[in-house]
Amino acid sequence: MTLASPKLWVQRAQQEGFALGAFNANQLEQAQAIVMAAELEDAPAILQVSHRALQYIGGGNTTLGLRYIAEIGKVAAQSVSVPVALHMDHANEQEVLQALALGFTSVMFDGGDLPLEENIAVTRRLAEIAHGLGAFLEAEVGHVPKADPTGRFDPASELTAPEEAAEFVAATDIDALAIAIGSVHSVHSKEVALDLERLRAIRAVVDVPLVLHGSSGVRDDHLVQAVGLGVCKVNVATQLSRAFTEAARRTLAEQPSVVDPRIYLSPARLAMIDAVRERMRFFGVSGKAGIGAANRQTA
Ligand SMILES: [Zn+2]
Repeated sequence: MTLASPKLWVQRAQQEGFALGAFNANQLEQAQAIVMAAELEDAPAILQVSHRALQYIGGGNTTLGLRYIAEIGKVAAQSVSVPVALHMDHANEQEVLQALALGFTSVMFDGGDLPLEENIAVTRRLAEIAHGLGAFLEAEVGHVPKADPTGRFDPASELTAPEEAAEFVAATDIDALAIAIGSVHSVHSKEVALDLERLRAIRAVVDVPLVLHGSSGVRDDHLVQAVGLGVCKVNVATQLSRAFTEAARRTLAEQPSVVDPRIYLSPARLAMIDAVRERMRFFGVSGKAGIGAANRQTA
């Protein structure tokens, strides 16, 4: 299939109480694993790339990284019969515009470094441009922190204030709002608790679909509750990379003389397919590929 906007999928998820996984790819095999898992689960999938993935793929040149990913995303989507969206995560204004021009169907504008008024103005303008292209725009209020490479993090973060979220959404016409309720990017084990009371308070005053970043480090019982309370896009990265890398490491340990990368990347790709499938079932999106059909007619 051609790439699609996730707008109606996320709206359906909000109405019906499940969540879309947005799965990160850092290179080709991970992108393939995501769409292969979607096909096996008969689920719609959001293939997501981070700013650092673009830098990696583009060798430091994010524009080149975007061009590579746009093409990989298109081919990956065409290789399966379930609907796939291509999402650029935490992008600045220029990257949002570049991604949209290259055919990304979903973008997250991160204006967190801007003063609130300017963030609102830029977000509103980008939402208008995205909608003109049939694409989906996510933005964030508050800040989800990031763990260091060893998995340690500072739990003190800038949590989303419900009244600020309400003001931001009313002023911007965004399709989804990413919120900071205690999750942390890049945490290696599932230990983080969410501020579910804060989520309840945000849900009470904001009607757009809510997005959770940094889900890999969050306890699964809290993720279930968060989805029940209205989180309908959940970003998953670290948990998948962990499955991928552990499989590669195991193969290299068992066969230390290997030089062909295909020998250790094949089991890594298979392990990531399993990890994505497990999260799709967990989020309740398996078997829901059909929700993309309505989307294609209106997009
Ligand atoms: Zn994030």
